[in-house]
Amino acid sequence: MARTPVITAGPEEDRSRDAALRPKFLREVIGQTEVARRLAIAVNAAKKLKEPLGHILFDGPPGLGKTTFATVLPNELGTSLQMTSGPALSKPADMLPFLTNLEEGSILFIDEIHRMPRVVEEFLYPAMEDFRIDIVLGEGLNARTISMNLKHFTLIGATTRSGMLSGPMRDRFRMHEHLEFYSVDELSRIVRVNAAKLQTKIADAAAMELAQRCRGTPRIANARLAWVRTYAASETDGDITLEVARAALQMLNVDREGLDKQDRRYLETLIDVFAGGPTGVEAIAATMNLTTDTLSDEVEPYLLREQFVIRTPRGRVATERAFQLLGKKIPRKTAADGEPALFD
Ligand code: ADP
Repeated sequence: MARTPVITAGPEEDRSRDAALRPKFLREVIGQTEVARRLAIAVNAAKKLKEPLGHILFDGPPGLGKTTFATVLPNELGTSLQMTSGPALSKPADMLPFLTNLEEGSILFIDEIHRMPRVVEEFLYPAMEDFRIDIVLGEGLNARTISMNLKHFTLIGATTRSGMLSGPMRDRFRMHEHLEFYSVDELSRIVRVNAAKLQTKIADAAAMELAQRCRGTPRIANARLAWVRTYAASETDGDITLEVARAALQMLNVDREGLDKQDRRYLETLIDVFAGGPTGVEAIAATMNLTTDTLSDEVEPYLLREQFVIRTPRGRVATERAFQLLGKKIPRKTAADGEPALFD
């Protein structure tokens, strides 16, 4: 069989496509209904009370809309937005340009906020609580602290790991919103709306097919729609039919469950190398030559949600569904192995 190259968009391409397709207002946001409703109320109240919005923390796996909500809110409030990310803030001084550029009621968005060092986090506490920062000038005996007042702003934090955020940081957010994976119906609406934005005709069945095969994630739906559209333009008249969508997804090595090569490698490693588990995520990551963070943030959440894998106190265990997907024989562990029977 001919080998198909893995076709993926680079991060830059991903980012510009995401920005172009991103909803601009809350009413354009599809799915996450309860989150959107609570935010609409918070926005409405902030406008009526003429107060800045309280600080908001979004958490959930990548590509589910954390940045989207953060960019929609300033549009709703008619205010400005500054964006940065945890890894870019290595020391308190890195925060200064953002804090001094604030306007009354404006929004500061910090992506991957769990990756911000503790010193920066502590520097932010008075900023979040009292709209004030303490700056230390000089060193040693000559050191003195000056306080600076800030404009009343809203901090929006996004994290794929709310568990890694310190308690005091978490407590300083007034709203905590958890984003969940999307339903197939919501994703097919997203695919249809975005195909229209890209001026591409897509059959309802094709939109449904893409929706079923994008790991419950709008960003993946967008990336796969982009590829299917490219394929349609090159190989057919440009319209996306069900056949075209299927052929294009097959070239991407996306299976009928929507899992990609990386997902299947994870399951293969767990099953072939670790006999289905239980095993620690670190061992799987080391065998796959990936970081534990990549596995726990990007690969595992969907596999856990779809129960291809379960978490146990002794590590990850592949389920019957995973064995079936890969066409592997399901082992029958007996009490004699000293292990509880995995599948009865
Ligand atoms: P995150 O910040 O959680 O990683 P993003 O907000 O960047 O995810 O979402 C990725 C892309 O997915 C967005 O650019 C947008 O096109 C699409 N998207 C996300 N959530 C929604 C939504 N609720 N409705 C429509 N499109 C969405």
